[in-house]
Amino acid sequence: MPQRANSRLVGQTAIVSGSSRGIGAAVAVALAREGANVTINYHSSEDDARQLHDQILDEKPEAGLLLVQADTSKESDVERMFAETVAKFGTVDIAVANAGVQRDAATHEMSLAQWQTVIDVNLTGQFLICRAALREFLRRGPREGVSCATGKIICMSSVHDVIPWAGHSNYAAAKGGLKMFMETLAQEYGPKGIRVNSVSPGAIATDINKDVWSDDAKKRALLELVPYRRMGLPQDIGSVVAWLASDESDYITGATIYVDGGMTNYPAFADNG
Ligand code: BGC
Repeated sequence: MPQRANSRLVGQTAIVSGSSRGIGAAVAVALAREGANVTINYHSSEDDARQLHDQILDEKPEAGLLLVQADTSKESDVERMFAETVAKFGTVDIAVANAGVQRDAATHEMSLAQWQTVIDVNLTGQFLICRAALREFLRRGPREGVSCATGKIICMSSVHDVIPWAGHSNYAAAKGGLKMFMETLAQEYGPKGIRVNSVSPGAIATDINKDVWSDDAKKRALLELVPYRRMGLPQDIGSVVAWLASDESDYITGATIYVDGGMTNYPAFADNG
């Protein structure tokens, strides 16, 4: 029986990578509001992570929170983050592999470092988090009375797992790879009661695309690509992730949910073609 909204994740623990700011922070807030313990992971923005921690506690003083510094592209950091979370909360029920970066360049000018950083964080980092989560779910087994699924993984992807993106081939390659990785995990671990899905945000106003939304002309051009004609907000993603982590979406696995105001709906064809 699904629990009512705002208490859908009581008794569960979530790790959200890259959650000091932007989409990750909104996901951490949404999961904590549903009653989950949340590990807030940051790479370098310790102040932002502490601020988020205090903001959640102001709203929900009983929230269980843990702050962990970790570079999620590093195996030992990810292992430590899971170990610290299990030591504090007992287990992990929900892993949100969210941390992501952009290092944009035309491909003929892209340095190996720009390519590698994006693949390391956006693809290998997702692998490391998913693997650690799978191991913990399998070690611990079913969560009777807590959640229908033995564990839930949500990969933060992008509309660029299906929309090619000139000048961002490293990013598109990582997100396209992530889509197949996520679908393969869903196929591989469904029989163990583990659900694996992606959320693919469109243009969500965060630091990653500030150069676009802080410039009126660029923002107008961007909104031409969004039939719903507004940029997304981090909380648009947070609420979908909370639902996807809950029993209300228990029959969904291997799916990608595009939260994009219609960006993947071929908007250029509205008056063309
Ligand atoms: C990118 C943003 C971009 C959006 C839509 C996201 O995955 O990180 O920079 O605005 O896709 O193109």
